[in-house]
Amino acid sequence: MTADVVVVGGGVMGSSAAWHLAARGRRVTLLEQFAPGHGRGSSHGSSRIFRLAYPEPFYVSLAVRALPLWRRLEEDAGTKLLDLTGAVDHGPAAATSALHQALTAAGRPAELLDPTQVAERWPGLRADTSALFHPEAGRLHADDSVAAFQRAAAAHGAQVRHGVRASRLTVRDRGVELVTDSEEVIVAEHVVVAVGGWAPSLLSGLVPGLPPMRVTEEQPVHFPAAAPLDWPSFIHHGGARLDSEAGVYGLGSADGVKVGFHGVGPVVDPDRRGGGPDARAVEQVQEYARRWLPGVDHTTPTATTCLYTTTPDHDFVIDRRGPVTVLAGFSGHGFKFASVLGELAADLVEGHPAASRFALGAARAR
Ligand SMILES: Cc1cc2nc3c(=O)[nH]c(=O)nc-3n(C[C@H](O)[C@H](O)[C@H](O)COP(=O)(O)OP(=O)(O)OC[C@H]3O[C@@H](n4cnc5c(N)ncnc54)[C@H](O)[C@@H]3O)c2cc1C
Repeated sequence: MTADVVVVGGGVMGSSAAWHLAARGRRVTLLEQFAPGHGRGSSHGSSRIFRLAYPEPFYVSLAVRALPLWRRLEEDAGTKLLDLTGAVDHGPAAATSALHQALTAAGRPAELLDPTQVAERWPGLRADTSALFHPEAGRLHADDSVAAFQRAAAAHGAQVRHGVRASRLTVRDRGVELVTDSEEVIVAEHVVVAVGGWAPSLLSGLVPGLPPMRVTEEQPVHFPAAAPLDWPSFIHHGGARLDSEAGVYGLGSADGVKVGFHGVGPVVDPDRRGGGPDARAVEQVQEYARRWLPGVDHTTPTATTCLYTTTPDHDFVIDRRGPVTVLAGFSGHGFKFASVLGELAADLVEGHPAASRFALGAARAR
């Protein structure tokens, strides 16, 4: 079989890249090793936070670009994916004022609040020393987003194939030869590799300049609450009264209020994961909920697991080497940007340069 572009990996990033490429008229094949809606990577479940608030203008402007592209996907796929409920950030004043400054410099609405005002507006949340609200934030439905990207890609002519694992990739004189787990050989002019936690193993030796990436198993917990879909998303920044420096994120979802410590899970091999949620880690999230989330029933946790793939500088990898474009290292904050990152991948395939922040090798710069 031959294809113009093969996208390997049907998580949110590969699916977005397939949508953008197919919409530009490319002949695209998307390969995903597992079944639709699987829960073994990073893009499953009912919710991900969407927010514009980052201390760095670079990420604020990237999130601003992502917003209309989510709306375009909703139109193209005929489904609602993003609910803007607003977001509450709280913690040390240095953290909230840096976010406030970055949002207002970008011309986006944001208001600083004190913990009493937070308690009045959102009685389920207890805020730390200082707080910030910005309305252009909320909840993406994760499973529905991945399905929507794939459906919209297919409507533009992409072939979406589940249950097909790319076992070997070899760069040839004019393109890439890809061998699947059933020994099918696919030859493509270009391959986009978006394999989440499998990136270190599939890409090592193939792409020079790939930064080291830690793959960890994170464990968010859902708690029952009244009207969870009305909750704002929230981030509790570490360093004030929060014992953990890691910070805590949360949001309302169809499964309850989701709460997790950011990036504290153990390193894992994505093909050899343990037996599911760790009881001690669940207790720590319950203890957090008891202290800071009076609006949830902290006695009834439901835990889930998910992979983070993290580079040393926490920036993503979005770059091209010859016929291979890499999308990797999206850690715990990539989902919100997926609608625009697929566009960046399509640009790379068409020969446009990468953002230096996301580059491979020595060109990688802040
Ligand atoms: C607990 C948790 C909470 C998060 N919360 C947020 C949030 O609130 N907001 C936010 O913006 N981001 C959040 N993120 C981050 C975001 O979800 C991830 O950055 C994003 O989902 C990464 O997507 P991906 O496509 O790179 O990886 P994945 O979703 O893992 O997709 C990679 C896919 O490639 C497939 N694959 C691998 N190898 C092969 C192969 N050889 N052949 C074929 N297929 C292959 C895998 O099966 C997988 O489906 C969170 C992440 C986690 C884990």
